[in-house]
Amino acid sequence: MPSQVNYDFSRIMDGLRSYVREAREKKYVNVIEAYDNVTAIEGGKARFLDGRTVEIYDASGSVKARASAPNILIATGSRPSVPSIDGLRESGFLTSDTVWDLDRLPASFLVIGGGAIGLEIGQALAHLGSEVTVVEAMERLLPQTEPEIGDAVLKRLEEEGMRFYLKARVMSVSKKGERKAVKVLTHRGGTEEIEVDEVLVATGRVPNTDALNLEAAGVKTDRAGYIMTGTDMRTSREGIYAAGDCVSKKMYLETLAAREGVVAVSNMFGDDMRIDYSSTPPWAVFTYPQVAGVGVTEEEYSKMAGACSCRVLPPLSQLTKATIMGEGGGMIKIVIDPNSGRIVGGSMRWHRTPRT
Ligand SMILES: Cc1cc2nc3c(=O)[nH]c(=O)nc-3n(C[C@H](O)[C@H](O)[C@H](O)COP(=O)(O)OP(=O)(O)OC[C@H]3O[C@@H](n4cnc5c(N)ncnc54)[C@H](O)[C@@H]3O)c2cc1C
Repeated sequence: MPSQVNYDFSRIMDGLRSYVREAREKKYVNVIEAYDNVTAIEGGKARFLDGRTVEIYDASGSVKARASAPNILIATGSRPSVPSIDGLRESGFLTSDTVWDLDRLPASFLVIGGGAIGLEIGQALAHLGSEVTVVEAMERLLPQTEPEIGDAVLKRLEEEGMRFYLKARVMSVSKKGERKAVKVLTHRGGTEEIEVDEVLVATGRVPNTDALNLEAAGVKTDRAGYIMTGTDMRTSREGIYAAGDCVSKKMYLETLAAREGVVAVSNMFGDDMRIDYSSTPPWAVFTYPQVAGVGVTEEEYSKMAGACSCRVLPPLSQLTKATIMGEGGGMIKIVIDPNSGRIVGGSMRWHRTPRT
């Protein structure tokens, strides 16, 4: 049960921002500056002039510098995608880029999107004391994972007081004094109006490739604008490589971005490295209960191979150490190839053993 805890929201957010600032300095800026052979140009954006040259321009559009190189790595990442919902832009909203600027906790939030980012931030806001409602277009939360996982996360978050509209869509947002009125098309086909103090958009991400002038460089993208590469991270233009969230693929993770960067740069300097997307890296969702997985799900493997032999292992409470630690809540599901017996995927959720 929740207990009464007093805290200062603006100090929490100050602490969070200063941690990020310091980590950025220590782990990235200082590391880059320590190399004599690296020139860092800050406060500018790059765009291609041709397949060998970029120009760097500032916020006002003035060109600050030009650079040419036989090898170029594009690692421009992605940004939150904002769906075209009637009145959303006019009414204002937050995203996973801007929510960190809050100094006062809005009393209520409507989160559009029940994926990892919407749930992690939504639950944190709920734990801090906001009333949180999540609207998700699919019939399950965390649709990329096993139904047993998404369903259990839903149950737990509902028990904590979060509200969910599944198989539902936000139709419009409008201002209502200081608050916002959100019209939701529910799974039954009717509409409901929900009044909240703030809206958080967490409906996925788009690649930062639209302003790069990739046509001038001859770099091809998929229909959504993600850069197409081979497993050697080479793009369609010789000498230009890409890595990270701007690359077309199934999963967008920091670990994968870093590995792709290593593959790209090694290949620039004469290696012949490739990334193996079939062994997808482990991923985690930092809600409570926490969720983690690797490889494919039962549904994915059944589609790929025609059959699957899947097992839900006994509850974690059967593991002696988990029980001793009071951490026996949760389950593990493994996906097995029925012919070879090879494990091709696994997912788990974990939480403390419920009190009896
Ligand atoms: C809320 C949230 C939580 C996440 N949690 C996890 C997690 O728990 N685990 C995990 O593995 N991954 C997580 N991710 C994903 C992870 O952050 C990304 O996969 C990773 O940051 C991708 O790295 P990147 O270098 O490709 O892009 P980024 O980290 O986005 O870096 C790209 C950089 O390029 C800059 N840029 C863009 N355009 C230009 C231009 N034209 N010129 C110059 N610079 C430009 C951008 O400003 C940015 O600084 C999370 C993402 C979000 C949003």
